[in-house]
Amino acid sequence: MSQRTVIRVLWTGGFDSSNRMVQLSRRQVCIQPYYLSGNRRSKQRELNSIAAVARDIQEHPDTVCTILPLITVRLEDIGPDREITAAHRRLRRATEIGSQYDCLARFAKTVAGLELCLEKAESSKALNCILKYGALKLEHEVLNDPYCVIDKDRSSQDLIRVFGAFRFPVIDKTKLELVEGFRQLGFEQTMHKTWFCFTPVNGEPCGACNPCRSAIEEGMRFRFTDAALKRYGNWTRTWLANKTVRGLLSRLQLLEVADFLWKQWARRRRPS
Ligand SMILES: [Zn+2]
Repeated sequence: MSQRTVIRVLWTGGFDSSNRMVQLSRRQVCIQPYYLSGNRRSKQRELNSIAAVARDIQEHPDTVCTILPLITVRLEDIGPDREITAAHRRLRRATEIGSQYDCLARFAKTVAGLELCLEKAESSKALNCILKYGALKLEHEVLNDPYCVIDKDRSSQDLIRVFGAFRFPVIDKTKLELVEGFRQLGFEQTMHKTWFCFTPVNGEPCGACNPCRSAIEEGMRFRFTDAALKRYGNWTRTWLANKTVRGLLSRLQLLEVADFLWKQWARRRRPS
């Protein structure tokens, strides 16, 4: 076992990183999963999903990988890096990428070959940022298991600082291709145990937070209740969802505040 390749995966319990874990289950590798622990409301659900998906993988008769114990890292324990934080701020101002990429990048600097499971989605601000300020290239360190990395010869310094330390194993797959991947490998039920919502309502995905909206827009309406889909519809009708308004708020550096206020309001609102 000591000869096995170790694959390091940032595992959120979400759809994309859980798909990667399932993909790797058929390979003779050791998987070292990492979980970054903040104070999100969804934290316990994410950890429950990780445990449930890990159990399904370990119990599957075709599994040949070894999953090492999850390493949980507290966000406050990730060391500072002024250059990464400044680069992230500039990219965020221009492309609205998530605030989490600052600490993710600082963490990735300390873990060689860390995998970040971004999918191919038109709505992915991170992917759009990568394509705007740089390019990806394919690598094959593990036989038959290609992944993408940032092409440093064709990318800006800011992009390299924020995304340059990651491997991207599923960035060429759409959400629906990932759904098909779960099915083909015999993990259809496992797919329903993943968790992606930041602000659940009555234990169900809310339909209005960023990951929920992305999941709906990428074809996963089947994961949502009618109430969540209605909430999504309400969101798209609000002025905050208007691209022009969001662009203006972003330029004024008020987008995060506006999103935060909206989320506070949405939390207090009970589902219909
Ligand atoms: Zn949500």
